[in-house]
Amino acid sequence: MPELPEVETLRSGLAARIGGLRITAIELRDRKIFGGTDGAIKHDVVDHQISRVGRRGKVLILFLRGSASGAGESGSLLIHPKMTGQLVLTCDGATVFAGGHPTPSMLRRMPNATTRAVFRLGPACRLYYNDSRRFGWIRPAGPDPCRTDPFLARLGPEPLDADFTPGSLLQALARHPRAPVKAVLLDQTAVAGIGNIYADESLYRARIHPARPAGGLSDAEALRLHAAIQEILRAAVGSGGTSFASYVNEARGRPGYLGQAHVFRRQGQPCQACGTPIVRTTVAGRATNLCPHCQQR
Ligand SMILES: [Zn+2]
Repeated sequence: MPELPEVETLRSGLAARIGGLRITAIELRDRKIFGGTDGAIKHDVVDHQISRVGRRGKVLILFLRGSASGAGESGSLLIHPKMTGQLVLTCDGATVFAGGHPTPSMLRRMPNATTRAVFRLGPACRLYYNDSRRFGWIRPAGPDPCRTDPFLARLGPEPLDADFTPGSLLQALARHPRAPVKAVLLDQTAVAGIGNIYADESLYRARIHPARPAGGLSDAEALRLHAAIQEILRAAVGSGGTSFASYVNEARGRPGYLGQAHVFRRQGQPCQACGTPIVRTTVAGRATNLCPHCQQR
């Protein structure tokens, strides 16, 4: 699943290209992925201008401005790509941006068999939402969706924002004292945007075993984990996310964050700190990579 750095790469790539464009029509090819009514599409989305592109956790937010709403924003459209969502932007028939779960057909002709929605933008562009497994969703929301949308309102702090502090991380860990620390990192209500890859990388960097009970971490360990999460996510955003096998951006061929990964997909290879082979196990029901020497239970 794309995590914070991958969705942030989608956000920045789209923001530069669709900010200011008007949504002139929407074609819903699969009603299942759309969580709004026909009336909401007609009145709250179509003929609205995309004022800016935001992100909360792993959710992309298109902020909208209607002709009647003056300078203020009138609503928003939320896009959660989940496992296999893709966004492909074409202008005058040529693909100018593609992000999300990679498939060979991603840069070929649109629409294809996995296309679930098509947004016509301005006079010449189209934004295609493709999703082969159909776990993703799109729905309209109000002008302040981070407060009013039931999914976004429950999310924990953004890990790269000022309200994510060592203290807030300690509080989140203390709320689930017996849960494995990795499970708390994956809990989107504890901290938003972290998934399997960046949880493993952060725990390795902080030298904390993923299965340790969250309530058993010392203040010093929580401080280390907080710093590790921010360092790992900043580096991954700077690399355009993991553009390797499960996520691509327009910088295709770039190694992305994979080249910097210490444990992810490195089982059997030596730990870069101590030489012990990286082990793959299961923690919190998820495949987990760790160094058994650097991250002791
Ligand atoms: Zn090691």
